[in-house]
Amino acid sequence: MEIDTPFYKKRLKSRREELLAMLETAKETVKPVELDQSSVGRLSRMDAMQAQEMALALERRRVEEVSRIGAALIRLEKGEYGYCLNCEEPIAPKRLNFNPSVLTCIECASKKG
Ligand SMILES: [Zn+2]
Repeated sequence: MEIDTPFYKKRLKSRREELLAMLETAKETVKPVELDQSSVGRLSRMDAMQAQEMALALERRRVEEVSRIGAALIRLEKGEYGYCLNCEEPIAPKRLNFNPSVLTCIECASKKG
C-alpha cells in the first residue's frame, strides 16, 4: 500500500498546531468556577459548572488527539503509518483521510466500542 506520507505529515502537524492553539485559548476560559454567592443564583451556578464540565471534557479530547497525533507521527517516521496498531492490517485510506490521527482500522475501532 502506497501512502502519501508528506501529505499526512503535513496534515498531522497542522492539526496538532491547531489543537495546541485551541488548548492555549481554553486555558483562559477553563478556570475554576467562582462561586459568587451573592450575585449568582443556584441555577446559573449549576449552568456554569455544567459548562465547565463540557469545556474540560473537550479539553481532554483535544489532549488525547494531540498525543494520538504524536504517535501517528512516530509511526510515520518508522514506516508503520497507515497500519492498524492492533491487527496490523492496512487502515482504509478513506478513514485515514478523514482523520489522519487514527491508529486502528475500522474493525478494531468498532470492537473496542
Ligand atoms: Zn485492526
